[in-house]
Amino acid sequence: MPLVRAYIALGSNLGDRLGQMQSALKALAADDRLKVLQISPVYENCAVGMGEANDFLNAMVGVETSMAPLALLDYCLEVESQLGRVSKGEWAPRSIDLDIIAYGDEIIEHERLKVPHPRIAERDFVVHPLCAIAPNLEILGQSIAHLAASLPMDRLKLYELKLEIV
Ligand code: ADP
Ligand code: MG
Repeated sequence: MPLVRAYIALGSNLGDRLGQMQSALKALAADDRLKVLQISPVYENCAVGMGEANDFLNAMVGVETSMAPLALLDYCLEVESQLGRVSKGEWAPRSIDLDIIAYGDEIIEHERLKVPHPRIAERDFVVHPLCAIAPNLEILGQSIAHLAASLPMDRLKLYELKLEIV
């Protein structure tokens, strides 16, 4: 398999948010089919529409992988369940969420995997972390820097702690 550059979003709004994101990153990096090359800063984001839920922490990692797209998805889902993610459903609180944001320049329309994510352009918590590590990446015909410029950052704030490659 050739090596492909992919971007994976990490999010958590339950429990030890940063600790779980760090554990997810460590688990991702533990597989020798995947190498973590870039890590964005961590952002804190108000969990709009999630009632009393905690605010999210969000970050983005750039990886190089020999996994095929569905293998990468299965690996992300496995890491989520290893870390004890139980709740399901859109907007439900989650100990860890790993989403594949881009996989090379492929457009994937599989029932289990949609890449690039169809609502990326509206998601400040995806676009701004991605812009921090890959401003020139083109998604849906636009650069991430361009998408970021048209998306307010007022609900996101830089978190004081960082993720590390361990
Ligand atoms: P969300 O992250 O959208 O809030 P969930 O994490 O609960 O929702 O949804 C998980 C399901 O979303 C996975 O089982 C997977 O099949 C599907 N899915 C579709 N596209 C993607 C993607 N690009 N990255 C991760 N999961 C995806
Ligand atoms: Mg998800």
